[in-house]
Amino acid sequence: MNRQSDSKRAARGGCPPLFTERLESWGRLRSGLTQVARPELSSHLRGILAARTSKKVLGFGRGLSYGDACINTGNVTVKFNSLDHLLTFDPGKGILTCEAGITLEEIIRAVLPHGWFLPVTPGTCYPTIGGCFAADVHGKNHHVDGSLARHIRWIEILTASGKFARCSRKKDRDLFLATAGGMGLTGLIYRLSLKLKRVHTGYVYAERIRVHSLREMMDVIEVGDADWEYSVSWLDGAAPDREMGRGEIILGRHAEPEQLSFKRRSSPFIIRTRPGISLPVTSPVSLVGSLSTRLFNSLYLRRSGSRRKRREIIPWNIFFYPLDAVREWNRLYGRKGFVQYQFVAPDEAGYSAVGLALQICQRSGHIPSLAVLKRLGEKEGLLSFPMPGWTLALDMPVRHGLFRMLDELDRIVIDHGGRVYLAKDARLSPGSFRAMYPSFPEWLEVKRRVDPEDVFSSDMSRRLAMNREEAD
Ligand SMILES: Cc1cc2nc3c(=O)[nH]c(=O)nc-3n(C[C@H](O)[C@H](O)[C@H](O)COP(=O)(O)OP(=O)(O)OC[C@H]3O[C@@H](n4cnc5c(N)ncnc54)[C@H](O)[C@@H]3O)c2cc1C
Repeated sequence: MNRQSDSKRAARGGCPPLFTERLESWGRLRSGLTQVARPELSSHLRGILAARTSKKVLGFGRGLSYGDACINTGNVTVKFNSLDHLLTFDPGKGILTCEAGITLEEIIRAVLPHGWFLPVTPGTCYPTIGGCFAADVHGKNHHVDGSLARHIRWIEILTASGKFARCSRKKDRDLFLATAGGMGLTGLIYRLSLKLKRVHTGYVYAERIRVHSLREMMDVIEVGDADWEYSVSWLDGAAPDREMGRGEIILGRHAEPEQLSFKRRSSPFIIRTRPGISLPVTSPVSLVGSLSTRLFNSLYLRRSGSRRKRREIIPWNIFFYPLDAVREWNRLYGRKGFVQYQFVAPDEAGYSAVGLALQICQRSGHIPSLAVLKRLGEKEGLLSFPMPGWTLALDMPVRHGLFRMLDELDRIVIDHGGRVYLAKDARLSPGSFRAMYPSFPEWLEVKRRVDPEDVFSSDMSRRLAMNREEAD
């Protein structure tokens, strides 16, 4: 693409200028030099596609996926930062239409004063709605409300044909289901319409329950899930074998005005939130090791005291996004970065898969700095991650021997009929991917129909050979 004529093209709504940049994802483990385009108009998206020559193209939200799903080394990356407008909002029905680059935080700030909240949110409010649809994210309410795609009424996507297509569960259903969880490989998502969740305050009524073993944790989660809208559990990945699974279950539901103090009741949606503190520099080495993890975990457990149950009313940002309190906390892991290994195993295999994974981490010395357990329900898209069962997410700094251990975990996950989450993955093999995602051939059929030349591609799709049936 010729830089000289770029500005003229942009003025006509053609291809905006391209700049070479190194982009990295949240885990800081994968990065790549790429030509970045920053469209401001929908016509720019078409222009990028028309001018791409032989280069591959990929949408990029805020790079909050952990692995290489948002990296497109040597090709063109379309950053959606400026396609971030809220287009229409019906405060009576809670229906919102927006461009794909708007962040979850921006949506919440716009709709919460009118008594609406996101129907599904991941554990950070900084990603874009387009990036969240492409990963078909799940939240703490997956057991009740499913993943994000369930609440999306329609999307408008620019496919390789150069035309915008509006698709939904009813219209061009295949394309909709291949795009939900399709990691940006079916086209550039431009606009979405979503149905929000009615809330009566900006607070959450939460209950924390201390547990002392994995069996107890899973039993309490199962009982809690029947009554509570939100449920997530933190477990101490550094606990010795006999106390494996000790931790805390956090249940919640949106608070009603009468549950608030008199002072808060007069303005139930007004919550003063402070921007998270930022880590100014990246540490050259990981500050997260087994010693700091053990220390943190035991302090955390001590902080929650000896009481088995605690109840509290907390603001939305503290309940849904505790990790956002420190911006760019990923820098703590140093230059080598970290991996979040998140897998799901079917209900009946959950206890065995989770227990084995924790034991293997312990024995190999790769103590997870963060371990989160949750129950999931049915999946929405063809490549969506969820399945009825148990998901465990383990954060681990990159150290010698980590990838060998993760290969072992892959085998356990496959043997238990589970899968690894693509939005977090940076190292799965093409064979393991196929064993974990049985709907892949169906997805590939749609991909071939809408993108026969594999225009939309990423470092992940090339690593996993997602343009062909066989792994080789
Ligand atoms: C602290 C933290 C907590 C998290 N918690 C959860 C959680 O609880 N549940 C969960 O499911 N996920 C969770 N995630 C993962 C995160 O929600 C997803 O990876 C999400 O996709 C990131 O969105 P993004 O806008 O940054 O997209 P990116 O990371 O930039 O991109 C993700 C994918 O979407 C594609 N994409 C982005 N925008 C577009 C577009 N407009 N058109 C086409 N394709 C596009 C990219 O090509 C890529 O494949 C968490 C991440 C972090 C950092």
